[in-house]
Amino acid sequence: MGNVGGEFVLDQCKKGNSFFVEDDIRYEDFVRMVCGDYNISEMNAVEFSYMLPKRMMEQMASNTFPISLSSHRQLASFITLLKTDIMCIYVSVTANKGHRDVNRNQKPAVGENAAADFGSFGNFHYEKPSQETMKPSQETVKPSLGTMKPTQLRKSETIKSGDVFSGKKELIMKLRKISVIDRFDFIIKKSWKRLFYAKCFVPGCSWKIRASAMSISSPEFLVRKYTDFHTCSAAVRYSRNRQANAKCIGEMYVEGFSGGSDLRGIRPKHIMGCMRAVYEIEIGYTKAHGALAYARDMVRGTHASGYQDLPTYLYRIKEANPGTITELELDTENRFKYLFIAFSACIKGFPFMRRVIVINGAHLSGKFRGVMLVASCQDGDRGIYPIAFGIVNGEDASAWEWFFTQLRHVVGDGRNLAFVSDRCPAIAKSLTNVFPEAHRAYAFITLDKT
Ligand SMILES: [Zn+2]
Repeated sequence: MGNVGGEFVLDQCKKGNSFFVEDDIRYEDFVRMVCGDYNISEMNAVEFSYMLPKRMMEQMASNTFPISLSSHRQLASFITLLKTDIMCIYVSVTANKGHRDVNRNQKPAVGENAAADFGSFGNFHYEKPSQETMKPSQETVKPSLGTMKPTQLRKSETIKSGDVFSGKKELIMKLRKISVIDRFDFIIKKSWKRLFYAKCFVPGCSWKIRASAMSISSPEFLVRKYTDFHTCSAAVRYSRNRQANAKCIGEMYVEGFSGGSDLRGIRPKHIMGCMRAVYEIEIGYTKAHGALAYARDMVRGTHASGYQDLPTYLYRIKEANPGTITELELDTENRFKYLFIAFSACIKGFPFMRRVIVINGAHLSGKFRGVMLVASCQDGDRGIYPIAFGIVNGEDASAWEWFFTQLRHVVGDGRNLAFVSDRCPAIAKSLTNVFPEAHRAYAFITLDKT
């Protein structure tokens, strides 16, 4: 919860209640309504208090006490605040008002509004309860991580004027997360190369942000002005949340709830439930599915990042298996083209195998496709013995020729060797070029049946 938080004691029996009140309701009528709902006979024993909204609390000392509500004027102020913020009133009941110490040495029973937002409460603590305070219930509990409302688990995200972002994308993602946490929506009015301007989707609301590039050549964006305050009605503001796209939800899920796991067993419905419980937003199955795919890419690495990590992976293979042969071929634009791996254990065992090498290619599924080339032979027990394998971008003659050239470092020049493959002309041509001395045979049954 960051630097805001609260410690309230919730009366599990009475729990919370919500009321519809007129803007000009009289204080006495309000007290009567509350007493009726909570079945309190002594109207004088009731006391109300509330915490200022989060935006106000951030401007005030962290130990700011709750605001007392005991007159018509104070109730009118509270109702005015309700137009732009969701708040709740805490109802405390004392046994003997005449002898009650009016300082805050008491634990109030909490009338928890259904829409209560604990995230807006200040960082204050009530001390030990006074003996004079009527205990509302023996089941009174102190909120802890186990008993806190899910809304208390929200991660906070903030932006200030003067903040610098590595690029416009990072700024927009941060805004998307804030729009989920604070439950509103924004419209991007300008998103140019060096200027960004967004405002709350409710016409006339004061929330807006303006950012621009640090300089002509820099991709960094500086927040020039940020008005983090809504003047729109909370009910209208909460009604829309279109900026919460799949990528934003996926990132928030990983950062807040994955606990460092690889998300095995997580389903879209889990993400939907989590967003509903913690951020009180409804997302559809399709969006949750997209969010989960993005979240998985985040924790496992994407296919693209897998290719980027290849040189490091090959280095580690060779370090762990001395004698292993690996080759990585890149194209002119430094992109992956061919890969060859022959593990040292396979290389050492090859002289003791039958001198017949079976060659096969298998097309790979996935985003980047490609073909896996495999060279294997038979051991003395007629078992398949792998010699080497490679990944190439396509099963053409140049790919096969590159693969056979690497294989030659493992199996020698081809004398006393026979190669078995299908009738692919690319294989025949490449074999003749690289292993001119070798014998050749065609297999009519594929590798998995030999
Ligand atoms: Zn607004």
